[in-house]
Amino acid sequence: MERNNNVSAEQLARQQEFMKKIREINDEYFNRTGKKKSMFITTFGCQMNAHDSEKLLGMLKEMGYEEAQEEKDADFVIYNTCCVRENAENKVYGNLGYLKHQKRENPEMKIAICGCMMQQESVLQTIKEKYKHVDMVFGTFNLYKLPEIMYINIETKAPVFDIWKEHKEIVEDLPTIRHFKYKASVNIMFGCNNFCSYCIVPYVRGRERSRCPEDILNEIRELAKDGVKEITLLGQNVNSYGLGLGEDITFAKLLRMVNEIDGIERIRFMTSHPKDLSDELIYAMRDCKKVCNHIHLPFQAGNNDILKAMNRKYTKEQYLELVEKIKKEIPDISLTTDIIVGFPGETSSQVDDTIDVIKKARFNGAFTFIYSKRTGTPAAEMKNQVDEKEAKENFNRVLDALNPIIYELNCQKVGKTYKVLADDVSNGDKEYITGRLEDNSLVHFKGDSSMIGQIFDVKITDCKTFYLIGERV
Ligand code: SF4
Repeated sequence: MERNNNVSAEQLARQQEFMKKIREINDEYFNRTGKKKSMFITTFGCQMNAHDSEKLLGMLKEMGYEEAQEEKDADFVIYNTCCVRENAENKVYGNLGYLKHQKRENPEMKIAICGCMMQQESVLQTIKEKYKHVDMVFGTFNLYKLPEIMYINIETKAPVFDIWKEHKEIVEDLPTIRHFKYKASVNIMFGCNNFCSYCIVPYVRGRERSRCPEDILNEIRELAKDGVKEITLLGQNVNSYGLGLGEDITFAKLLRMVNEIDGIERIRFMTSHPKDLSDELIYAMRDCKKVCNHIHLPFQAGNNDILKAMNRKYTKEQYLELVEKIKKEIPDISLTTDIIVGFPGETSSQVDDTIDVIKKARFNGAFTFIYSKRTGTPAAEMKNQVDEKEAKENFNRVLDALNPIIYELNCQKVGKTYKVLADDVSNGDKEYITGRLEDNSLVHFKGDSSMIGQIFDVKITDCKTFYLIGERV
């Protein structure tokens, strides 16, 4: 897990050269036609992918592209894909089919696909055989090579497929365009070593690689200078941050260092694996004022046999003990989780254990999923796949246990005043804006777009299961 600074710096310089060459081509196009080349990025999946897309956007802008309003009008279309759920994959194929017609009308359009889905051999074959209108394909390990891949495509006029199986190097300082001025995500590590039996991520994102603390801190200092108030530290399993770096650093220590950076007002992180959550981290969360009182701690299932089959490496009892410890140290903590229902072999009585955890841990929110098979994972090979109807019934029982607790915890906030970071104009009513409490609860309150990015005192006046209503005080 060593990081080789020279190789990274060399790679960055190499890609900058390609960016310059493409910029020259695009400038020449502008001088000739009076039009700028345009691009459209579609992102599927998690926050990690969203952050990768900010890097793609940064590089494309550096190369002279401007953002198109609609995909059909773009000269360069890129899909940053996700393979965690089959739905997302099907959507990518559907969109690619549609793009074939667009490309017929605009033969100059370039189509690129990248991200987790492309790391699967079977997907690559399908793209090569059935989607011949795709110009460029690359994966999760070489996203920074976009300029070089684009340049090769321009020069050779042939499709470029560049997928790496694994990569240890982390390329620093890629140009990045952030979607929000006042909040930003920062990768602290990449990959995952856990191999939960239902999950494709370790196969498509590779082994854990941590970034050096000084690179992370420098990036956050720069963001703070740029007006960023809220930072989200990203990793598949942030709790094992630092392992293998050869330095005396842990995630808890990193949190304490980030907490010292002037200008940053809120620190969030995701995701935490329960098996690696240390007391040291709980104390750091308790002590660091800027670290938000929210932890996302996926438990997935409550039955110990199912947890074992999932390869989660903790028991129901250990999980509940951990929750108790966290709540003792940080009484106002908001706890959210992920739950899978219908894992191979899971019976209704085993789902009762999941419901028992829900009742005991009392979650403030949860992402709930019915198990879906991912080709290439051990769970997909298991013979005892659960009947869809039974999984759906159990799923509904889980929601029936979960939602009243979420609602009750939300209602306890009514009448109290909280600091809220204004995020966006509300979709439903333009006179309202949405914001987040420190504990990550969503609140709607009266306001306008000029308030976005600022922190306000908001009194909660009403509660629903998935959001709060408030007013500025
Ligand atoms: S911890 Fe498990 S679920 Fe999370 S990314 Fe790693 S293998 Fe997937």
